[in-house]
Amino acid sequence: MDELAINGGKPVFDKKIGYGHQYIDDADIQAVVDVLKSDFLTCGPKIEEAEKKLCKITGSKYAVLIANGTAALHATMFAAGIGPGDEVITTPITFAASANCAIYCGAKPIFADINPETYNIDPASIEAKITNNTKAVVAVDFTGQAVEVDKIRAICDKHNLIFIEDAAHSLGTKYNGKPVGSLADMTEFSFHPVKTCTAGEGGAITTNNEEFYKRLVLFRTHGITRSQELMDKESEGGWYYQQVDLGYNYRMTDIQAALLSSQLDKLEIFGKRRKELVKHYDEAFSTMPEIVVQREIAESDTVRHLYIIQLNLDLLKCSRREVFDALQAEGVGVNVHYIPVYSFPYYQKLGYKMGECPNAEKLYERIVSIPLYYSLTDEEQEKVIEAVKKVISYYKK
Ligand SMILES: *Cc1c(COP(=O)(O)O)cnc(C)c1O
Repeated sequence: MDELAINGGKPVFDKKIGYGHQYIDDADIQAVVDVLKSDFLTCGPKIEEAEKKLCKITGSKYAVLIANGTAALHATMFAAGIGPGDEVITTPITFAASANCAIYCGAKPIFADINPETYNIDPASIEAKITNNTKAVVAVDFTGQAVEVDKIRAICDKHNLIFIEDAAHSLGTKYNGKPVGSLADMTEFSFHPVKTCTAGEGGAITTNNEEFYKRLVLFRTHGITRSQELMDKESEGGWYYQQVDLGYNYRMTDIQAALLSSQLDKLEIFGKRRKELVKHYDEAFSTMPEIVVQREIAESDTVRHLYIIQLNLDLLKCSRREVFDALQAEGVGVNVHYIPVYSFPYYQKLGYKMGECPNAEKLYERIVSIPLYYSLTDEEQEKVIEAVKKVISYYKK
């Protein structure tokens, strides 16, 4: 057997590859250059252009582009009227923003446990955590797989909660044939460079609810409006506007919107390639007892953002740490998604206790994310698989 790179052997990759990477083509570059030569760097026509494409892709009535995914989550909280004393249920296996957004508004995030096979929030655990103060659920389509929308919808309807979908990972995914973005009351997207389509930084919210839409637009620009209604009713002249609520400057620039708009044209091919790569990884790893492959529910037709291998530690002589370090030494870009949010010092100081979500904590000990992105070649993927097999065969009992 080949010596592991971490023990001084030859690494599988001469040059290290990342776990995620953006794909930018000439059309993307031209789109950005065109904006730079135009009259509008911000508040121009590219915002509406990209919003229209998002509406089409997601089958939703309204889309609001915003500075980033975190701002998008913050905006959903504002639109939902979340405030002090309210509780918002989310998953601990997510990026911190899914929970932080509730705290921004003075509300309290409550963590529901995950399904240990799909890694998505468990609807039964959501129901168990509902109190009289619960106002909303932020359900994360973790790795790109849709949450159990029908069950969450039914729980939200029964308890009069607002259903917010954190779809930062799941642009392009469908649930029972319907695109993510048209399923929840509001859906948040992120266009950070590791996500399926990028704007450099960027985010969006889609909704079918006109009231939410109006509040999202207000929130994006300081709570200031020049709406037709206002102008008709009380305008003092052409300069007139009013601040009717407290918002922020969460606008996206036209430079970013142009990049996003051009990227959205490639969503189909991005999704197709990601599906191919996932299928191939699944085939390679499902024959290895030391590795557990993420289970997909039948309802989700998934464009995967992350590929995660779960280690069956009972069959290994080591912890996740050794496998992670050994893969990194082989030149494979690895990462861990995610450290349970409530275990962070900030959350511990707020009084959250370990043990709250046992499935999430157990999963965290066992996971490693491996490379998944559009431009990953077949050859590179084979080498990633080779590196995983090399490391696992060294550490297996
Ligand atoms: C990336 C991400 C966000 C936040 O998006 P930003 O655009 O980086 O602010 C929110 N939730 C999840 C699950 C994410 O992965």
